[in-house]
Amino acid sequence: MTELTDLSIAEAREGLKRKDFSATELARAHLAAIEVANSALNAYVLPTPERALAMAKASDARIMTGEAGPLEGIPLGIKDLFATKGVRTTACSHILHGFTPPYESTVTANLWAAGAVMLGKLNNDEFAMGSSNETSFYGPVVNPWRRKGSSAQLVPGGSSGGSSAAVAARLCMGATATDTGGSIRQPAAVTGTVGIKPTYGRCSRWGIVAFASSLDQAGPIARTVRDTALLLGAMASHDPKDTTSVDAPVPDYAAAVDKGVKGLTVGIPAEYRVAGMAPEIEALWQQGVAWLKAAGAKIKEVNLPHTKYALPAYYIVAPAEASSNLARYDGVRYGLREKGHDVTSMYENTRREGFGQEVKRRILIGTYVLSAGYYDAYYGQALKVRTLTIDAFRRAYREADLLLGATTPSVAFEFGSKTADPMAMYLSDVFTIPSNLSGEPAISVPFGTGEAGLPIGVQLLGPGRSEAQLFAGARVLEIADGRP
Ligand code: GLN
Repeated sequence: MTELTDLSIAEAREGLKRKDFSATELARAHLAAIEVANSALNAYVLPTPERALAMAKASDARIMTGEAGPLEGIPLGIKDLFATKGVRTTACSHILHGFTPPYESTVTANLWAAGAVMLGKLNNDEFAMGSSNETSFYGPVVNPWRRKGSSAQLVPGGSSGGSSAAVAARLCMGATATDTGGSIRQPAAVTGTVGIKPTYGRCSRWGIVAFASSLDQAGPIARTVRDTALLLGAMASHDPKDTTSVDAPVPDYAAAVDKGVKGLTVGIPAEYRVAGMAPEIEALWQQGVAWLKAAGAKIKEVNLPHTKYALPAYYIVAPAEASSNLARYDGVRYGLREKGHDVTSMYENTRREGFGQEVKRRILIGTYVLSAGYYDAYYGQALKVRTLTIDAFRRAYREADLLLGATTPSVAFEFGSKTADPMAMYLSDVFTIPSNLSGEPAISVPFGTGEAGLPIGVQLLGPGRSEAQLFAGARVLEIADGRP
């Protein structure tokens, strides 16, 4: 029999329904896998085995009485950015030391209402700032993949590196993640997993630790396109507690997965062919174009002329919002408090000890670009670039239903190889950031491996609320890649 941890969510749902195994057995199999592998991978910062077994037991009871929800008994990992009631939530920052929220995020509450089981909290870059999971207070996460013929450890991408590594290493069936500039799609691409950043507002931000509120969006990482569709269907909702939440019914994403791309026009953005992109990634991208064409899509070259300005604009807008969001961590209300001789020095000492280097860098940049005298030159300009980016996408989507590009400019890299040069690290998100600025959805799907045997992801992008079409397109690529 296949190992329980190897099943997809779709297969596990069937197996549970047929009573081939119980939710408790499924949870136990994953807890055992975590026990074996987590010390090497560091994907979980807090496994919650007791909670997992209690939730699985409740799932088994509901399966018995015919009250099973759509994700009944499915064991998931939760990025440490999501507030989980009674379970430590720190955004992997020392400043939230020991913080145990008295409330549950809307996204995780939706998952539990659908019957899912929580295995624990997953590692991430501190406050989701990073592309390699090297900024976490709890230390880096190790990608389960290795280069052919090498034992060098590689990064799992970031900021959702715990989510991507845990899913790839079968330490959960799926995971929650967040994407402010690429943190779902980039880690998915470099671990051979599927990740979708939905339309801004499709998943509620309520109870998710805020990084850059106009860009932050939650979404799932899983091993198949169908599994991400099932997860997103449960995570998404309209939420009156988040005023930017999309007030529209959640479509049946799983039903859209097999719809194909016949008759759709897929645009190929010329500007995504940037200097410095690995040739093997470019080659697979072209192969993706050929497959979509073979599946009945029309292919059309389109232009996104402001692509090269999106990255600098993001690195003004995101730190600006972060500097404001992170002002709340003052040692008074949450987590860490360092002593001081008066209240000001207590604030200073707490923030000095509590925040890591990258977070401090963002706060400094953000405060600078918002300060009087610089506001118009930086923040104002960045907002204009953001508007131009939105306009360019709008024009492209007049000509094409979806766009196809690479997810990342390179495959998984080695620890420390980009930490000394923040620009090199920031460039990891050059293809993912534009759709954060526009608030539009995009999915990364594994599409073959490069020379070193490492996974490569391609990205399908679409206009607002086109998730169903993205799932259908991604499924065509998944089949072409040999995963029927
Ligand atoms: N790597 C980008 C950053 O560091 C994106 C992070 C994210 O999407 N959370 O800001």
